[in-house]
Amino acid sequence: MKRLTEFGLTEFDDLADPTFSQAVIDWQRVHGRHSLPWQNTRDAYRVWLSEIMLQQTQVAAVLGYYARFLERFPTVHDLASAPIEDVMAHWSGLGYYTRARNLHACAVRVVNEYGGEFPADPALLADLPGIGRSTAAAITAFSNGTRAAILDGNVKRVFARVFGVEGYPGEKRIEDALWRRADALLPEESMEAYTQGLMDLGATLCTRSKPDCPRCPLQARCVAYATGRTEELPVRKPKKTTPEKRADMLVVLHDGHVLLEQRPASGIWGGLLSLPEVDGHVGIETARDGGIALAAAVQAFGEVEEVQALLPLVHVFTHYKLHMAPHKVLLAARAVTPERHVWVRLDGIEDAALPAPVKKLLIDLARPSLFA
Ligand code: SF4
Repeated sequence: MKRLTEFGLTEFDDLADPTFSQAVIDWQRVHGRHSLPWQNTRDAYRVWLSEIMLQQTQVAAVLGYYARFLERFPTVHDLASAPIEDVMAHWSGLGYYTRARNLHACAVRVVNEYGGEFPADPALLADLPGIGRSTAAAITAFSNGTRAAILDGNVKRVFARVFGVEGYPGEKRIEDALWRRADALLPEESMEAYTQGLMDLGATLCTRSKPDCPRCPLQARCVAYATGRTEELPVRKPKKTTPEKRADMLVVLHDGHVLLEQRPASGIWGGLLSLPEVDGHVGIETARDGGIALAAAVQAFGEVEEVQALLPLVHVFTHYKLHMAPHKVLLAARAVTPERHVWVRLDGIEDAALPAPVKKLLIDLARPSLFA
């Protein structure tokens, strides 16, 4: 497929390669699958049903369900008019039950909006429940011979290996590039054999582990094979690194009480009482100022008798890891209690609305030895 860009150039020229699709088509005609029950038909209902059942499910598991489903719901009208419970019962055991609910909703829309005829335009199909861009392309390729590209997980794997695609295919930028390549590689004709060929290659030869490269029609052009990287491609989903932050926390004590501050209503520990902090939760790499800010902060609370660093703690939130550095601050005399702060008796700390790690820290500290 070629499109005119705003610069008057044809996009995808550099990606187009008719020999690629020809190799896939030739191989499919000889070695591909030809006698599956949903092949050799242009009935869009049957093709659609098989494509939905085959999402995330192996062919062997689908065969029996497909036959029983068609026996009970031979046409899209039968499916649309059936109670959803009946549809679910016929799907039971196949898994991913959203597919069954979407299947029924899709049948209802095809009957109500298209008079029971599946639209031939992939863009219209992709607007129906449970049908994504790749599934819409497969349905129209098999039922109408439409030139539309598929890009399911198997095809992404084949492309990533053949073309040596660096980057995780689930990442938007990489996926967009794969779609451009999929569009550019479409043959002018024989869409059924080409589409089926890509599916068969991914399912039978270019499998996730131990691809059967010696029998592959794409071996001579395969970057992963040539460079011995079939194990590494496609690139796996990158592991998320959890950001790390730190917080200097003040355990200000006087006369059996600890000073707590009410946190803002939104954000981490929103609305709870907690220990006053020097700078809030800052990046772990943020330079410390050698205790200047700490010294200034503690003096606001009264006449300081002693400051002592306590053992640090780590608390893991869903989106970052917090290194808590508590400092015990003993006051000889309190200043005026600042706004949003309260003095709470240490022996009643269990009942206070505190974040769990702060409560644990204070309960440990509340032992009598603290005031010895
Ligand atoms: S040569 Fe091997 S890795 Fe490359 S496409 Fe074929 S089966 Fe996949």
